[in-house]
Amino acid sequence: MKISNMPANGKKVIVVGAGLGGLTAAIKAANAGFEVQVYEKNEHPGGKAGSVNLDGFRFDTGPSLLTMPFVIQQLFKDCGRNIDDYLKLKPLDQSCKYFYPDGTVINAYRDKTKFAAEVEAKTSVKAADVHRFLDYSKKIYDLTADLFLFSPFRGIKSFLNGKAFRTLLNLRKIDSTRTMDEAVRSFFKDGRVVQLFNRYATYNGSNPYEAPATLNIIPHVEHNLGTFVPEEGINAVADALYKLALEFGVKFDFKTEVERIFYKNGKVFAVHANKYDQFCDAVICNSDITYAYTQMIHLPKSKKAVKRVHRDASSSALVYYWGVKGISENLEIHNILFSEHYFKEFEDIFERKIPPDDPTIYIYISSKYKPSDAPQGHENWYVMVNAPFNHNQNWKHEAAYMKDEILDKIERILKIDLRERIVAEDILTPDLIEERTLSYRGSLYGISSNGRYNAFLRQSNRSKDIKGLYFCGGSAHPGGGIPLVVLSGNHAANCLEEDLNSGKL
Ligand SMILES: Cc1cc2nc3c(=O)[nH]c(=O)nc-3n(C[C@H](O)[C@H](O)[C@H](O)COP(=O)(O)OP(=O)(O)OC[C@H]3O[C@@H](n4cnc5c(N)ncnc54)[C@H](O)[C@@H]3O)c2cc1C
Repeated sequence: MKISNMPANGKKVIVVGAGLGGLTAAIKAANAGFEVQVYEKNEHPGGKAGSVNLDGFRFDTGPSLLTMPFVIQQLFKDCGRNIDDYLKLKPLDQSCKYFYPDGTVINAYRDKTKFAAEVEAKTSVKAADVHRFLDYSKKIYDLTADLFLFSPFRGIKSFLNGKAFRTLLNLRKIDSTRTMDEAVRSFFKDGRVVQLFNRYATYNGSNPYEAPATLNIIPHVEHNLGTFVPEEGINAVADALYKLALEFGVKFDFKTEVERIFYKNGKVFAVHANKYDQFCDAVICNSDITYAYTQMIHLPKSKKAVKRVHRDASSSALVYYWGVKGISENLEIHNILFSEHYFKEFEDIFERKIPPDDPTIYIYISSKYKPSDAPQGHENWYVMVNAPFNHNQNWKHEAAYMKDEILDKIERILKIDLRERIVAEDILTPDLIEERTLSYRGSLYGISSNGRYNAFLRQSNRSKDIKGLYFCGGSAHPGGGIPLVVLSGNHAANCLEEDLNSGKL
């Protein structure tokens, strides 16, 4: 049953991929009156935001942390729905618990004053400096969010309105010429606090020693705006979007890979899927853009978009899903065990392209907020370390080696001997991420933002080369991570609607 807010407009759009970006684009296009068909190569929607059941344990397979929930709330509102009927989002009182090799433990509380006091109590940094840093982070967000996040960036044309032009005049304030690390060190001298804020580069798979300080907006997003979890686990976001899409009459073909996107005279007219050419008026591509340009869209190599696609991928990860016997009272939902040599860790990942020998370990335990994710007296540990993108390393070997490192470090820092307590196990490696979601080299967030300009050079949501072709997802504007891919789906569908209204489709 189709209940879109607009009458059918007689145009058909095909969405390639049912990741969170593709699902959003499909919903918005259907809501605007398009007939929407989604082709997804996997058996289920959600892409990287998946879920796996293992011997009585449930794990979110990819994302574990949700920020900017208002982006998803707005999507439901735009569609005339109350999000609470689909997804229950809970703010967390503590976004993370940080463990350092020297024994320091810092609790990152949601309450800013409490967090700043905690930093002052545990390190040599004054609470006022934490506030000063978070104010600086907010300033960058206020100056950039409208232009770089909440609208489809159109290159130089994007600066042709008053607010955007002001951003241009304030380029120094958005701090694009320093690296994240240089900026963080200008606020703090204590290495532990520098490490804490440098870590936010990993939220888009980048290197804090290379990425522009503009990305220091991320602490604002987490500390000032807060972190959230859906009551049913992160995968519930995909379920909620899928449910809404079905209500809007979107059709899904799963286990169906799109092999080609066809265009003639510079305009899209079909895709090849399910052994046939499937005709349409437009295509929204949620596939990784490198895969899209190299496999599906046969554009001349001279085109700028094609030249860009082989820029460095963002980092990947090794993830261990462990069913663990016993309850760990000293851990929170999100926990970080920092490495001793942060600079070297990123050198290993991005330059040597090897898994770091002293990795920072992230532990996410969803059974702490959703007890049914583990049998009684047990917990579901999602243990992740950052890893280089896939360039045909022997991941079985790397994963086995890293497992020992992780178990040793957990024993050393948390005083927990997991070896006897793991009762179920599955492992995700970069090559599997690539195979399962076709993400370029198994990267988590598309292209990395290392270097001064990469963050600003993502694939735009509307193709500049082919009419009727749009892009969404982690490798398109505005980038990877749940809220950003939802925004990208929004932007792609808005561009589609704009083109329809201006007679370009
Ligand atoms: C281990 C891990 C941890 C992460 N942690 C976080 C986190 O804590 N917080 C956060 O916000 N983000 C996190 N992310 C990133 C986040 O998951 C992604 O940015 C986001 O889910 C990507 O959405 P997407 O729309 O780009 O689609 P994807 O999830 O990349 O899905 C694309 C879909 O398209 C399908 N597809 C591709 N090509 C074709 C084709 N030719 N034909 C048919 N189907 C096709 C794929 O099968 C896939 O289902 C993490 C990711 C991973 C892997």
